[in-house]
Amino acid sequence: MSLIVQKFGGTSVADVEKIKAAARKAIRAQHQGHRVVMVVSAMGKNTDVLLELAGDIGDDMPAREMDMLLSTGEQVSVALVAMAIHSLGAKAISLTGGQIGMKTDNSFSKARIQSISTERIERLLDEGNIVVAAGFQGIDDDLNITTLGRGGSDTTAVALAAVLGADACEIYTDVDGVYTTDPRKLPEARRVEVVSYDEMLELASLGAGVMHSRSIEFAKKFGVPIHVRSSFSDTEGTMIVAESESITQPVSGAAMTADEARVTVLGVPDVPGKSQQIFSAIAKRKVAIDMVVQNIGQSGRADISFTVPKGELKATIAAIDSVIDKVGATGHTHDDQVSKVSVVGSNMALQTGVASRMFRALSDAGVNIQMITTSEIKISALVAKEQSAAALRAVHEAFQLHKRPSDAKSWHQIKAERGKADVDTLVNRLQADALEALTLTGISLTQDQARVTLHGVPDKPGIAADMFEMIGCAGIFVDMIVQGYDGEDGLTSVSFTVKEKDLDASLKVANEIQSRHGMRDVIGADGIAKITVSGIGLRSHTHVATLLFDRLAQDSINVEMINTSELQVNAVIDAKKADLALKGLEKTFADSLL
Ligand code: ASP
Ligand code: MG
Repeated sequence: MSLIVQKFGGTSVADVEKIKAAARKAIRAQHQGHRVVMVVSAMGKNTDVLLELAGDIGDDMPAREMDMLLSTGEQVSVALVAMAIHSLGAKAISLTGGQIGMKTDNSFSKARIQSISTERIERLLDEGNIVVAAGFQGIDDDLNITTLGRGGSDTTAVALAAVLGADACEIYTDVDGVYTTDPRKLPEARRVEVVSYDEMLELASLGAGVMHSRSIEFAKKFGVPIHVRSSFSDTEGTMIVAESESITQPVSGAAMTADEARVTVLGVPDVPGKSQQIFSAIAKRKVAIDMVVQNIGQSGRADISFTVPKGELKATIAAIDSVIDKVGATGHTHDDQVSKVSVVGSNMALQTGVASRMFRALSDAGVNIQMITTSEIKISALVAKEQSAAALRAVHEAFQLHKRPSDAKSWHQIKAERGKADVDTLVNRLQADALEALTLTGISLTQDQARVTLHGVPDKPGIAADMFEMIGCAGIFVDMIVQGYDGEDGLTSVSFTVKEKDLDASLKVANEIQSRHGMRDVIGADGIAKITVSGIGLRSHTHVATLLFDRLAQDSINVEMINTSELQVNAVIDAKKADLALKGLEKTFADSLL
């Protein structure tokens, strides 16, 4: 008999009528012959109300008590949903996180799932019950109640679907699927039928509010198809699966994170290990940093810029202050009026001209790009907050995201084509007691790379667009691009990597750009290599980048450029040190490598 997990978010159980509607959906599925497990969130804004209550008592309440408090929201919902099912004549039983054996670690408010025992759920299902499980909560080894972090009910649902081997995991919510961008920010956004785990992971971590990032990591690890759909209608929503909607479209979605902050640590001595000290201090406070740009050192010092969510700025600065003397940096600056605009697409890595198309769109809209980072499936630009809406519209339009790609496939087509050859899941290779543990799939080297750096680039619209269009016209494939602050003088520096054989041609273009826009200098370097750590959920496991830096620092290997995504952490290093780096990292990550 097939089993489905149905998750109802806060808005879908916000009042008694909605609770009854959710109950009817579950009963209907049961009548259709499925075994049904429901996962529910706290009613409406209940979690926020509880947070406010705690805030009224004071700041910085004990984390354990916060989780004790917040978990009650879900406990109210599961009981009411089970009652509603009873009142409609079916059998149901509600269970807390502890009662479904949802074991987590003890990091309150950010707990990670270790294991789930399925016997009790299976037994209750066998007895004909709809099992109504509380989302968002678990218990640690000492039976303390823990919570998984805001939005964590999604992760509960996908985790249950994974361990129960469910046929489907339906996420009922107040939107009818995943859109090319947030339709509240951009009305022309289009609902997509299919989006890949990788794309969704990036979009989720960029604040596409639809799903909790960690739930997608889970789904990818275990190959759980997720169906995001509206609780208020019966229309099909969006399937989140291994495949993308199109195999040609370079960009599948755009996102804008409005409230970001840029932090620059100035004058960091350009010796191995310095950035590591800074990042590990920040990681200790569990702040996830993004858009890391390290300017190639001049006169023995480098500036390191990165972004953090605006709300984490205070903690980040405190972390930097705690190590700045040890690091020997000269100071730091920040800007909390910035937003990040990103485009995401699984097919991007195979095409040229994607970055320049984005930069051109921004420049045509009069938007200045303050920082750029790229990864294999994402390009992000940091812009002034006041220009963020215009920036999002411009890139959405540039990639024609409002139109269904001509080769788009529906989930039914994709599933039919999958045939018997199942999508590769990692499930068998995972340890059963560490479901959410870091999972690395490989460490690899890309040799024969070269880097081009332009210093003293005027910080005004259009330069990045010009440069990468010309590079593209010259038929050169650019891999990593970073742009960041170049000291305090309002200038930026841009670095990018190309294949070693393309260095001369790239330098020619860079020199032309230099004379056209008047920048300080152009430097080319060959003999560099890129080392890549690949896995799942690398950004939510903030320590991956830290461990990588640590290891390289111990081996006295300087990191020239770095980029991070959900799928990879890449560092550009001296090619002569590449083998040493590979060996070191294989040792460091031995436990997490599959
Ligand atoms: N109730 C929790 C929250 O509001 C968990 C969830 O809704 O997923 O964050
Ligand atoms: Mg919620």
